[in-house]
Amino acid sequence: MNFIPAKVPPSKNTGLAFWFAFRNDELLVKMADERTIIPYINDLSSFNLKPVRTQYIGTLDERPCYSAELKKDVQAPEGMSFHGLRQIFVPLGDDLFRIAGRAIQIMKWDQNHQFCGRCGNSTETVHTEHAKVCVKCGLRCYPRLSPATITAVIKGKRILLAHAGRFPSKLYSVIAGFTESGETLEECVKREIMEEVGIEVKNIRYFGSQPWPFPDSLMVAFTAEYAGGKIFIDKNEITDAGWFSADDLPGIPDKVSIARRLIDWFVANY
Ligand SMILES: [Zn+2]
Repeated sequence: MNFIPAKVPPSKNTGLAFWFAFRNDELLVKMADERTIIPYINDLSSFNLKPVRTQYIGTLDERPCYSAELKKDVQAPEGMSFHGLRQIFVPLGDDLFRIAGRAIQIMKWDQNHQFCGRCGNSTETVHTEHAKVCVKCGLRCYPRLSPATITAVIKGKRILLAHAGRFPSKLYSVIAGFTESGETLEECVKREIMEEVGIEVKNIRYFGSQPWPFPDSLMVAFTAEYAGGKIFIDKNEITDAGWFSADDLPGIPDKVSIARRLIDWFVANY
């Protein structure tokens, strides 16, 4: 699949398009043979649906794609259903998950910035970019991105994994946390691991990144080596943590997440 992001919609009506339409946080899809099909239609009136707002987000294999916000109480058309992205990321597949994640973030930004956060007046959409500008004071708002670090800490032949209270039971993962204002990503890695499990790290190296639309994170992944300290559980977010070898891992996250890619990297290399 070849997705090309864009902000300016085609000048003339191009007919059929992919519609990533959301009711609250749920995407309208058709489930067929364990696959997830995104509606490819002229517009949402094909389903007798009237969107609250729409945004053009680019082309998928040269076909236009739109995000749309639906009313909170709409029913799914015959043969279709609404699903949270987390529930369907396996049948969606990596490519469609990425596009749907972009679509929901653009939709939410459009929904959440109808009024200026500084003076309270209405905003207008800037049509050459994804931006909203206040008609009175000129404040500009772009879709929000919240960078977070996620780190595989290695000690000898073992990896540091933790269980957070918000995780499903038995699931363990690498340590993650949001970057604070004024902080470098490397400082964030060190602070989060110290705060959550009391461990010092060194040799922090970039691994990769992943947009994570729950609701607007950019996960920036690192590897690091243990440098000192004993595991100390903060009990706020983390309820258990330990060092695990590749042949004795607990329950770990799904394939789609960069957390899992870090753990798979550890298994392949240690
Ligand atoms: Zn304003």
